[in-house]
Amino acid sequence: MEKSIILKNLPVSIYISKCKINENDFDVLDFQLIQNAGFTGFSNEELNIRTILKSLNKNELKDTIAHIKKITLNKTFSVTYHFKAKNGKILYLKDSIRVLKIEKNVYTFLGVLTDISTEAQLSQIFETVLKSPIIGVLIYKEKIILANDTLKNILEISDEIYNLSVIDLFPEKIKPMAENAVKRRLKGEKFSNFQAFEFKTFKEKRIYTEFFADTVFYEGDYAGLVFVVDKTKFYKNKALLNMLVIVNSLITAINSEKKLLNEINNKLKEVNYFAEIRMNEKFDDEIEINNNYENNGFKSYFYMPIMCGGKVFASYSFYSFYKDDFSEDVVHTLKEIQKKIQLAVNDIKNRKNLIILNNAIDSSYQWVVITDKKGKINYVNKAVEEISGYKKEEMIGKTPSIFKSGLYDKKFYKYLWDTILNGKIFDDIIADKSKKGEIFYLKIKIIPVTIENETYFVSLGIDITKEKLLEKEIKFIKFKDKLTQVYNREGFLLKGSEKLKQNKNFALFILDIHDFKLLNELKGYKYGDLILEEFSRFLKDIFYSNDLIARLGNDDFAVLMEYKDLKTLSSVINRVIEKIKQNKKEIPIDVNIGISLYPKDAKTLDKLIEKAYIALSFAKQAEENNYKLYDENIYQEIEKYMKVKYLIKEAFEKDEFIYFFQPYVEGKTFRFYGAESLIRIKRENEIIPPNVFIDYAERSGIIKQMEILMMKKLINVIQAVKFPLSFNLSGFSLKDEEHIQKLIDISKNFASFITIEITERELIEDLKQTEKIFNLFKNNGYKIAIDDFGTGYSSLTYVSNIPIDILKIDISFIRDMIENRKNFVIVSTIIDFAKKLGLKTVAEGVESKEQAEILKNLGCDYLQGYYFAKPVPFDEFKKIIKS
Ligand code: C2E
Ligand code: CA
Ligand code: CA
Repeated sequence: MEKSIILKNLPVSIYISKCKINENDFDVLDFQLIQNAGFTGFSNEELNIRTILKSLNKNELKDTIAHIKKITLNKTFSVTYHFKAKNGKILYLKDSIRVLKIEKNVYTFLGVLTDISTEAQLSQIFETVLKSPIIGVLIYKEKIILANDTLKNILEISDEIYNLSVIDLFPEKIKPMAENAVKRRLKGEKFSNFQAFEFKTFKEKRIYTEFFADTVFYEGDYAGLVFVVDKTKFYKNKALLNMLVIVNSLITAINSEKKLLNEINNKLKEVNYFAEIRMNEKFDDEIEINNNYENNGFKSYFYMPIMCGGKVFASYSFYSFYKDDFSEDVVHTLKEIQKKIQLAVNDIKNRKNLIILNNAIDSSYQWVVITDKKGKINYVNKAVEEISGYKKEEMIGKTPSIFKSGLYDKKFYKYLWDTILNGKIFDDIIADKSKKGEIFYLKIKIIPVTIENETYFVSLGIDITKEKLLEKEIKFIKFKDKLTQVYNREGFLLKGSEKLKQNKNFALFILDIHDFKLLNELKGYKYGDLILEEFSRFLKDIFYSNDLIARLGNDDFAVLMEYKDLKTLSSVINRVIEKIKQNKKEIPIDVNIGISLYPKDAKTLDKLIEKAYIALSFAKQAEENNYKLYDENIYQEIEKYMKVKYLIKEAFEKDEFIYFFQPYVEGKTFRFYGAESLIRIKRENEIIPPNVFIDYAERSGIIKQMEILMMKKLINVIQAVKFPLSFNLSGFSLKDEEHIQKLIDISKNFASFITIEITERELIEDLKQTEKIFNLFKNNGYKIAIDDFGTGYSSLTYVSNIPIDILKIDISFIRDMIENRKNFVIVSTIIDFAKKLGLKTVAEGVESKEQAEILKNLGCDYLQGYYFAKPVPFDEFKKIIKS
């Protein structure tokens, strides 16, 4: 009874059952409920085998049967079932079974059912918690006795953890506090504790945990139970986010790079995430510090340079006591921070530059105007106000046309706009008008600038008004002659050319002071200067004020004057000449004047000057205080002269001088007796006759060089043909004994073959000299002929006084001696006269048989002319004389 009372008070249900257990299933043969604890909700009557089988989980039941089979007699074992109570709730029942009897496959057993729903619940929860990958679970007594995998993972430790006491897990700082709590717990004091802190894993990594601890009774003792959650990521992200926020707020608030960098440094330190943050302004220092970071107990660091304009402007170094603390996500954020700081620093720099630039532009003395695409003024600087006289407010919103000077036409502005609208820079000097209406000059550049599809035009200009005015002044100075204050050559050319555009009649005078050089040398330069000054004053007096007076060179003055007609011009000329003559007391000089006329003589000023100089050169050849007007013929003459000059020069260079030979015959027999050598220039296929160039050669003196050359050629021919040849000697050469001597030196070995011809006109100029030269020739064995005899003074007396061999009767007498009685007489007289003096005669220009016969009858010694032979080249000449 007592027993049953005890049983009755215990919350257990008791049954006895008899089951036949087959291969795969079983049959309940008997079921007796001995005690019903009531936890199923079923009454004693309801709790029969049917209800039980219905409420039990079938699978669990099968497992139980399988279990029973293995069990031997009088042994107890327990199984657990889920059981559906009357109210539908699932109960967790523990069935402690004892087999009482086994007959073949019939088992009789006693079962004691306990409702372990609550305990099962708890232990299941705990089991599950232990498996959780989120919650670390730790139970400790003196040593750690239980740690789940999650905890081990969090702390980065394996089963070695069981060698440690819980105190070992705490960071050094909180160990004393922790030790105290642990002691209290192990004594059984019940208190819970929730904390969060950061510490190191066993691999020295940063870990941030939240943990909850309490005292529990575990395996016969008091123990500490700790739940640990790894919040590292959360706290790390919070810290990083915090840093980002700080940087973000600072970069928009601070306007100085240094201040910004320092402030960021301070505020980031306050976040207290990293052990140390250092800001460095120098790159090199940084490396040194970073290399030593381990000496300071740091386990990892991150170097963050702040780049600016491609250079390290400053840098931050982040140090951590934890290993590998700069994981990918941290670095990612730091790089984000770095970018932001860099942008901010650059921005500040740019902003600063902009402010500086803006100030500079505003106070620059350069003209700066910015307009929009339509030309509306957006910006002007102070210089624009100063230069233009307009106030800023008066210009903004208007167009630069307010500065228009009216000096340019539409074309100019079209060109300007075309240039800048095509994106090109317009660069020029512009004359603008100020508010007061004064012209100012800008050396301007208009630059199109496009920002975000919006085009602006920036005009940059320098006020060069002063320079322009100065330039004008300088020009004036440049164009005036310092000494005389009249125009100089440059000024005369400039002003004169402008004057000629008026298309009126102008006369250009070139006035040359006679022998000014001599005057200068004799009386000194000061005196010369005085004369020049006086003379220019004189010119200013005598000409009208609008006539252009200039000093072109040393003592050459020019005057360009307008004249109505030739009559007025000649009166001006006469007045000038007269005044010069009259003024001789005050200005003791003589003047020659060359005059050219516009537009008759030339169309441009320099040609006009050139021609006036030509006229002057002719005036100079006449007496002093004389003038000459330019004459077209003179000019042509000179042109011809120049051509001949080059002809000869080239002929020398190319060795184009040759001889033609004109043989002459004996008067009695008409047999070839000798020949005259006549000079030519052979240029390509052209034969240029001597009348083209001899005259120039004589006047220029080049004749001497020519004679030397021709004498040499003559000698070559004589050596070849051994035939008497005549050599024409120029009258100019007569004056130069030295030259004659040279000719003789070259040819004297062949003197007996050579006849020297010289015209009558030339030899009579200085008979004494002629005689001397003729003697030189005669003494060396040459013969001498007087050429063109009868055209000179024909003073027959000289002929007897100088040594002569031959008279060549001039062609003009021979030509018409048949028709012209007078000439016939002259010819016959000359022949008679020569005979009397023992001289031979040559008739020149015999063109007909008739002439030849008459001359033969008159007793002329030799006949020369086309009738017998024309002048021919050497090859032909050779043939003629051999025949
Ligand atoms: P000149 O000494 O009186 O030479 C004779 C000129 O009369 C030659 O002209 C000759 O071609 C030309 N003549 C000869 N027969 C006749 C004829 O039947 N009818 C006509 N109408 N003319 C005839 P050329 O060769 O043109 O020479 C012209 C002058 O050039 C020469 O006149 C002479 O004064 C000069 N000259 C020629 N060669 C030389 C030279 O080597 N030295 C110098 N100093 N003067 C030369
Ligand atoms: Ca001759
Ligand atoms: Ca002649």
